[in-house]
Amino acid sequence: MTDEELVKQALAELGDVVRCRCHEAYKERGLHDPDCQCDSAEALATVERHIATLTEQLEAARADAKEAEAYAEELEKDQVDLCRQLIAAEDKLAKAVEALKEALYFLKPTESDMEKKAGIYRIVTTLAEIEGEKG
Ligand SMILES: [Zn+2]
Repeated sequence: MTDEELVKQALAELGDVVRCRCHEAYKERGLHDPDCQCDSAEALATVERHIATLTEQLEAARADAKEAEAYAEELEKDQVDLCRQLIAAEDKLAKAVEALKEALYFLKPTESDMEKKAGIYRIVTTLAEIEGEKG
């Protein structure tokens, strides 16, 4: 039996305990039998209302947890996508750096190229910048 079923059963048993068994002789005089437990019926009703409220809150919390779990899964997927994009970008950058290094090897920049700040100067400085960032 689940906890929920056990609680239901316990409440039903308590309901039976507090069920009014006062004799008409008492009722007709606006009294109740001191041996009858019916004066505890309101206390039981309070407990039942409280359990109903807690049950609602529990269900709401479970729904929130489920939603949070779905959101976390979505975030994880986004992060995996970002990792793939980052790896692809790093691959492209590595290829570009390799191409620039090869170009420099063939171009053999001279001091005068560097002084003129020619196109080759841009390659040298950009490559130094990229490699500096990586290191
Ligand atoms: Zn009673």
